[in-house]
Amino acid sequence: EWTALDEVAGAADEGLGGGEPPQPVVAVVGRPNVGKSTLVNRILGRREAVVQDVPGVTRDRVAYDALWNGRRFTVVDTGGWEPDARGLQAEVAAQAELAMSTADVVLLVVDATVGATTTDEAVARVLRRSNRPVLLIANKVDDERLMADVAALWSLGLGEPYPVSGLHGRGSGDLLDAVLKALPETPREAVGASGGPRRVALVGKPNVGKSSLLNRLTGEQRSVVDEVAGTTVDPVDSLVELDDETWRLVDTAGLRKRVRTASGTEYYASLRTRAAIEAAEVAIVLIDASEPLTEQDLRVISMVVDSGRALVLAYNKWDLVDEDRRYQLNKEIDRELVRVRWAERVNVSARTGRAVAKLAPALRTALESWDRRVPTGQLNAWLNELVAATPPPVRGGKQPKVLFATQAQTRPPTIVLFTTGFLEAGYRRFVERKFRETFGFTGSPVRISVRVRE
Ligand code: GDP
Ligand code: GDP
Repeated sequence: EWTALDEVAGAADEGLGGGEPPQPVVAVVGRPNVGKSTLVNRILGRREAVVQDVPGVTRDRVAYDALWNGRRFTVVDTGGWEPDARGLQAEVAAQAELAMSTADVVLLVVDATVGATTTDEAVARVLRRSNRPVLLIANKVDDERLMADVAALWSLGLGEPYPVSGLHGRGSGDLLDAVLKALPETPREAVGASGGPRRVALVGKPNVGKSSLLNRLTGEQRSVVDEVAGTTVDPVDSLVELDDETWRLVDTAGLRKRVRTASGTEYYASLRTRAAIEAAEVAIVLIDASEPLTEQDLRVISMVVDSGRALVLAYNKWDLVDEDRRYQLNKEIDRELVRVRWAERVNVSARTGRAVAKLAPALRTALESWDRRVPTGQLNAWLNELVAATPPPVRGGKQPKVLFATQAQTRPPTIVLFTTGFLEAGYRRFVERKFRETFGFTGSPVRISVRVRE
């Protein structure tokens, strides 16, 4: 008996041909306590996904692999947030915006026993603008008697409500059928993956120079393919030609528009950053080289790593860096950026144009790593040698055995170790470090996941 063996084996099999198709994404939104988590568990049949035991997965947006009628998709539970001073409505509306910008299908969950609240109405208003399919879920319909309350939810303007009971399972089969029907043939992620320009997010805290760099990148070319309003390129993106290759910079509309809303600026900037990272394959995180590294910088870097995107660190404003500052900076890098030691650093100046040409090669390297697969044979030859030289530490008098490994996924590379016992986090980190010493993977996060045989 393997824990979740079916899922892992499935992923590995699909992967053998290289470059498995990306899965469509279903996002679940709604007020707290309407039953989102219960419904997600119901959809998953309470099986948990490989991503679960990866340390550092963000708590507020957890993604799971789901399988229904032979189709795989990813369910994103937006449930973990806590309303704060800005109020419930703003929070939920922001969640809805985020879901719309990242998912292929959005499920809005409403508590049928309560009916449509003003918050539900606010979210529905946001979702009605979406060009993604939205399904309205009337939850907690544990029996027939509630059907009149379900009908009342037509008022939200999202079409026919799907009555379900997440708790008892009632109606969930029909709902899943409807979800499958609403899923696109090719998920939105696949659009760029199949030969289109690679998608790049330009992110960083306010005032690091994102829009300056964007101007520099778009200004250096003669013909700017800019904000194409066609069908293939989202009008919020920009296409730029760098180093003889066309790249798609995602969500640059937000960088161009210098108007910034008066309230909740930071919060929405952070949501936008998140959405851009999710929509991209690789992120350039800009850091102000002239100032000490801040918590905010580290948060943006973590967002990239946690969402499994490739990463390039660009130290901007290099024109302001002197000897002293450079010394401090090296110390900061050693101390604070250990977690992303694998990321390439480029020292640029958006103002003078210094080293901006180095960005494209760094992006290319990062994406090559992100796409790369180590064949199972090669991986296991390496692993056997490693484990023989340094076996995992004994726990509770038992020596866990590492039986074999497979790279179950690319984008990001994910290694699954099959073992006879729990492997401590320290040993996993050791495996990752050794893995990188041998295989490199510059610019890409690498995930190590463990499946324990029981
Ligand atoms: P979330 O905050 O939206 O993720 O909501 P939860 O999934 O945590 O559920 C909130 C509460 O509603 C819990 O006490 C659940 O047991 C309950 N609940 C969820 N789904 C149903 C349902 O279909 N019927 C009933 N009666 N209760 C439910
Ligand atoms: P954003 O908020 O990240 O889009 O940052 P901006 O592009 O608006 O830049 C913020 C400030 O930093 C502006 O005053 C820019 O002129 C300045 N700036 C941007 N890049 C550089 C640079 O490379 N060197 C210097 N000295 N200043 C820069």
